[in-house]
Amino acid sequence: MDERETAIEGALHLSEVRLQGALQRAETYYAQFERTKSQLRAIMDASQEAMLFLAPGGRPLKVNTRFSGFFGVDDTTVLSQTPAQLTVLLKGLFVDGEALDRWLSWSTLDREHIFREQQVQGRRERQDFDLSSLPVTNVDQTYLGRLYVWHDVTQERAVDRMKSEFVSLVSHELRTPLTSIQGYVDLLLTDEDVGTLTALQREFLGIALSNAHRLGRLINDFLDLSHIESGKLVLHCEPFPLVQLIREVSSSFHLSLAAKQQDVTLHLPDPALMVYGDANRMVQVLTNLLSNAHKYTPVGGHLEIAVEIKGTLAHISVIDTGIGLSGEEQAQLFTRFYRAENAATRAIQGTGLGLTITRSLVEMHGGELQVSSTPGVGSIFCFTLPVVK
Ligand code: ADP
Repeated sequence: MDERETAIEGALHLSEVRLQGALQRAETYYAQFERTKSQLRAIMDASQEAMLFLAPGGRPLKVNTRFSGFFGVDDTTVLSQTPAQLTVLLKGLFVDGEALDRWLSWSTLDREHIFREQQVQGRRERQDFDLSSLPVTNVDQTYLGRLYVWHDVTQERAVDRMKSEFVSLVSHELRTPLTSIQGYVDLLLTDEDVGTLTALQREFLGIALSNAHRLGRLINDFLDLSHIESGKLVLHCEPFPLVQLIREVSSSFHLSLAAKQQDVTLHLPDPALMVYGDANRMVQVLTNLLSNAHKYTPVGGHLEIAVEIKGTLAHISVIDTGIGLSGEEQAQLFTRFYRAENAATRAIQGTGLGLTITRSLVEMHGGELQVSSTPGVGSIFCFTLPVVK
């Protein structure tokens, strides 16, 4: 073997060794990759939730075994669907098929937000689900697709329904005897045939009546809340004159405002303005907001109700120069039974249910209740109603 041949052989041997090394490394990487893949699969399958991962165009890339368990469709079938076929397949699984187009299109349209929906399974025992849809991005921020996660909340919903029914039943049972107590105490105070009362008896009966009214308001709040939560509260919407309704509500506060030397200014548009909603429920919304503005504003304060028309919506604001709310307090404002922790609130009667109910009523009208407030300066509560053209 001459020198050249020896060199070639040496180079070939080196290449072979390198190739062997590369092959070994590739095998190790492949084994690692397979391990990671099966770990990922095992983690997804161990989840109590059904999971489906869609590529940005809507093609199914991964599905876990819980999905088959919940919905009775095996993974091979799911993964072999085109986006259009998948939509049809999923539409057959849930009661609200219409919403489905929207939440499947999230994978293509939105790369940032987390969406949540409630869903009810259309077949067999009608399970309730909370569906979350989360964008998935790579470490380098490349959008990989969307993960859809179904959490079975059938049990929680059943307990919620039982609780609402219980609260509703108890409230009804309490209301009947309370109405009778209110009626008889009222008679004692107003009916001359009952006999004359001493000043002290009149005072005590007055206290009893005011507490019976307070209890009545609490029971009504409980009933409203349980009806809202169980979906039994039905709105009776029709066009109604907003300006007239606001004038009526604000006049009903005449005496209480005078007692605190507060005045209310109304900034109202043309009285012919008609809006669409449930007028009785709007009385309740405005009464709650005005009552709060009155309660949480010191003696001599100033209140305002303003209506502004922007496009197809009437923006209704209830404004006060009261104690106001910090950012932290505002964040908790719509939680049931929440009352801000301050001396003024402690001294004022309230249940902490009014705003929760008010917000739900506004939302049932398709609006949103917004608050902006500064401690020591005042608050603005604003909501919208559709204008009837
Ligand atoms: P309630 O007035 O019966 O306590 P709400 O649900 O109507 O219940 O209000 C919850 C809490 O929000 C009140 O206890 C009070 O602390 C705060 N709040 C509501 N409205 C105002 C307002 N206009 N100004 C300051 N604080 C308010």
